[in-house]
Amino acid sequence: MVIPLAAGALAVAGAAITSGATGEARAEVTPVSADTSITLAAAPQILPVPRTELTDYAVALSRATEREDERLARAKAEAERLAREAADQAARQAAAEEAARRPAVVFPADGTFTSGFGPRWGTNHNGIDIANSIGTPIKAVTNGTVIETGPASGFGLWVRIRQDDGTIGVYGHIDQSLVSVGRQVRAGDQIATMGNRGQSTGPHLHYEVWAANGTKMDPAGWLAARGVPVPQGQGS
Ligand SMILES: [Zn+2]
Repeated sequence: MVIPLAAGALAVAGAAITSGATGEARAEVTPVSADTSITLAAAPQILPVPRTELTDYAVALSRATEREDERLARAKAEAERLAREAADQAARQAAAEEAARRPAVVFPADGTFTSGFGPRWGTNHNGIDIANSIGTPIKAVTNGTVIETGPASGFGLWVRIRQDDGTIGVYGHIDQSLVSVGRQVRAGDQIATMGNRGQSTGPHLHYEVWAANGTKMDPAGWLAARGVPVPQGQGS
């Protein structure tokens, strides 16, 4: 009898069970070498009984682990969401406090008030003049948007800003513009430096306020109405 070695374990095990019935079967098994007895001893372990329970336990453990992982992930996501909310809230509060500290309207430059709005030298002076040295910072009077910057007849070089109430602020005779069109500015941001360009009799800022329809308003009255009185000085 020729038994392939791989199939030998089960085939011989079967033969061993039935071996009691016939001596002939025993005779056939007996000559198989010691190798087969090792295989016989190992054979029952191929089908261990506890394996099914172990598999169930492993599946249950795996599911429990997945549930725990999910719970931890949810807890982590919730913690992160709360942290983000707290950070957003803190940022909003800081921005609100910063906005509250920042005045809505500021005077456009330090210097001497030298000329007011109204008739002057046979024409109408459409703004207010503040004199100081060339290079003195010029600041945005309100929050707004830069709508023009560049050369302008009579003004030499100007910046025009659409202000927070829809009026247009005009800054003339400037030496240098520090902003470009479209730039969002906040009250107090430096936008230019004081100069002596155009029809100017000395370094100063000429500031005008135009209503939305183009009417020239008295900047001193407009500023006073916004809570910023014009410093008293010489001039008409
Ligand atoms: Zn002027």
